[in-house]
Amino acid sequence: MSNSLAIRGGTPVIDRPAPHVPWPPIDASTAATVASQLCRAVSIPDRSGVIAELEDRLADYFGVRQAVLTSSGTAALHSAYAALGLTDGDEVIVPAYTFHATATPLFHLRVKPVLVDCDELGNLDPAAVERAIGPATKAVAVTHLWGVPGQVELLTTIARDYGLTLIEDGSHAHGATVKGRKIGSFGHIAAFSMNGPKPLSAGEGGFTLTDNDEAYYQMLLHGHYNKRCRGEIPMTHPLQRYAVTGTGLKLRIHPLAAALALNQLDALDERLEGRREIAARMITALRELPGIVVPRVPPECKPSWYALGLVYQPDELHGLPVDAIVEALQAEGCLELDRPGSTRPLNEHPLFSAPDRLFPSLPQGWPRYRPGQFPHAERLHRNTLKLTVPHDDVSLADAYVEAFEKVLSNPHELRKDASV
Ligand SMILES: *Cc1c(COP(=O)(O)O)cnc(C)c1O
Repeated sequence: MSNSLAIRGGTPVIDRPAPHVPWPPIDASTAATVASQLCRAVSIPDRSGVIAELEDRLADYFGVRQAVLTSSGTAALHSAYAALGLTDGDEVIVPAYTFHATATPLFHLRVKPVLVDCDELGNLDPAAVERAIGPATKAVAVTHLWGVPGQVELLTTIARDYGLTLIEDGSHAHGATVKGRKIGSFGHIAAFSMNGPKPLSAGEGGFTLTDNDEAYYQMLLHGHYNKRCRGEIPMTHPLQRYAVTGTGLKLRIHPLAAALALNQLDALDERLEGRREIAARMITALRELPGIVVPRVPPECKPSWYALGLVYQPDELHGLPVDAIVEALQAEGCLELDRPGSTRPLNEHPLFSAPDRLFPSLPQGWPRYRPGQFPHAERLHRNTLKLTVPHDDVSLADAYVEAFEKVLSNPHELRKDASV
């Protein structure tokens, strides 16, 4: 029968090869921008050309004074933490539920990551942050998971009250806002990835943002030694004498990647607006279905919808395992739907439970995390389905919704003992 589930031999709802939502979108203007950069310069050691242009545009876009481009989001986070000048024994509170690079640079700086559980959207829980603050706490990092803004206003207040630095990992959330103010402008420093699928993509790349000159000089010294440091750290500044070597790392972005990002930035707001309309349409339809809960985004927040996270409710569907639902949806042709992989509760990674093989001389008292320590994050992660949101393809979005309707209203077909 053609309307039985595709996984049981029925006809799939969607019959299109992947990718359904190619990202970043590449058009003639993208190719022209990158090609013209290719003829202009492919290595830029100072703050000039496309590097200066993109940094100025980013600072402008986010409403901050300074941006520093980097080779990756991981490098941006490493620079941001390095700029804090922390030492052995210091602690930084980081989300338990995030991509690991929100926390991993801390291992290289010998600064302890203190993991904290999440709220119902998967973002850092401010009450849990407050409980985790101790005498060694120096900073708090917040990720805006899947592009839905974290509780930054509360976190800003907590950081101020306890004298902590707030770091934002905006890697999912370029262009997301809270009360009209951009994510990335709340923290003392923000770090963003521009990796392949991220809302603003350079293919590979990243950047940091700050209003603070000292943090800016420290971030230059961290990954942009010689010409940039010589040119930008004032002659009278005590750090100028380190300009030639910096700290010894080199984390520059490639100029062709910067050109790609510059082109993508032109269209970012329009594409995010398209995503928001389509996400709203999908949420309205999916909200009515049994077995899943749609995100409850506070009205003052505008997400970037890096992904639409749906939370599976097994008790509403005869306790069917989440993988059975995902496989059935993928069989219907929902090829942009999956379960989060590397973004997961960090205590589940061996690096966080048994770091010594990779870092044999960590400072005393380094945490060794175990499964079960972050029940909200772990339960949420176990049941999260992650959907890519198209920015201009309404019929694709409607077809995904139709596939959800088909699968979720026929759960009996997925039971092990179901006879077809
Ligand atoms: C992608 C990502 C990073 C790392 O960025 P890269 O550019 O891949 O190094 C860091 N944090 C979050 C939340 C990310 O999604």
